[in-house]
Amino acid sequence: MSAAIIDGKAIADDLRAAIATEVAAIATRDGLQPGLAVVLVGSDPASEVYVGSKARQTVAVGMRSFEHRLPADVSEAELLALVATLNEDDAVDGILVQLPLPAHIDSNRVIEAINPDKDVDGFHPVNAGRLLIGLPGLVACTPLGSLLLVRTVHPDLSGLSAVVIGRSNIVGKPLAQLLLQYNATVTIAHSRTHDLPSVCRSADIVVAAVGRPEFVRGDWIKPGATVIDVGINRLPPKAGETKGRLVGDVAFEEVRAVAGAITPVPGGVGPMTIACLLRNTLQAFKARRGVAKF
Ligand code: NDP
Repeated sequence: MSAAIIDGKAIADDLRAAIATEVAAIATRDGLQPGLAVVLVGSDPASEVYVGSKARQTVAVGMRSFEHRLPADVSEAELLALVATLNEDDAVDGILVQLPLPAHIDSNRVIEAINPDKDVDGFHPVNAGRLLIGLPGLVACTPLGSLLLVRTVHPDLSGLSAVVIGRSNIVGKPLAQLLLQYNATVTIAHSRTHDLPSVCRSADIVVAAVGRPEFVRGDWIKPGATVIDVGINRLPPKAGETKGRLVGDVAFEEVRAVAGAITPVPGGVGPMTIACLLRNTLQAFKARRGVAKF
């Protein structure tokens, strides 16, 4: 058996198209345009790529994009002052401060300074808490995108068991909460978990958010299970390559031979992350303006 490929790129394209349609309808009806502010501190090349891509996709769905680039030696006080200005700016519905921040800035303090209703990354403790107790709120983009992919295969998760490998605040924990909210029976595995292969073999859904290339092997997977690979790892370049290949946290070919459905890397969870950022910005806009409940 060879698993069905969950085409995250196509699913993200559809999500962005639906967002663009709704944004156009709001512009026609209300003359309003949702706005997303992205703050980049320093010039980390990977962060530059993410921020550029976020800005392009924001404009492509018809929203306003506000980019704020600050030097790497900006003080924490100056960054907090910018966040305070964006909190007050009525044209800004979503605020994203690109992580990681330089070591002299306390990321938690910056995240906590963002108005939770504009926290489109979903990292503010208020939004994490809302997710935990099942209140509406803004949910972190990568977990949300992963859940949407799972639900393309399993619209109803009742009775299914899910193992999430990884317990970070930005991926593992919120994704486990989402799966629980949708009635899966959830196990969170991590570096102290004993006999991870057999824990995974019990699961109908395995999510890998570990940060280790090709970590999850084919013989860890129950035949027919759904496998979501959140990992993004660049291998060292082989001879003749300028840069190494991108791989996930799952040994794709091995797992594909056993699983029922699997996300590829690239082209799986990755494209869903920015699409969900735009979804969150639209949600924040609608909530702030009272356009509709979310
Ligand atoms: P973290 O490093 O914050 O967390 C990794 C988790 O994996 C930890 O909970 C850790 O356990 C667990 N872990 C590490 N080694 C093992 C092991 N040997 N066995 C079991 N568990 C282990 O990573 P993130 O959550 O930030 O990211 C995970 C992956 O997802 C990375 O590859 C990252 O690049 C990718 N990513 C992709 C995104 C996308 O848009 N597609 C967005 C964000 C991340 P412990 O807590 O015990 O240390």
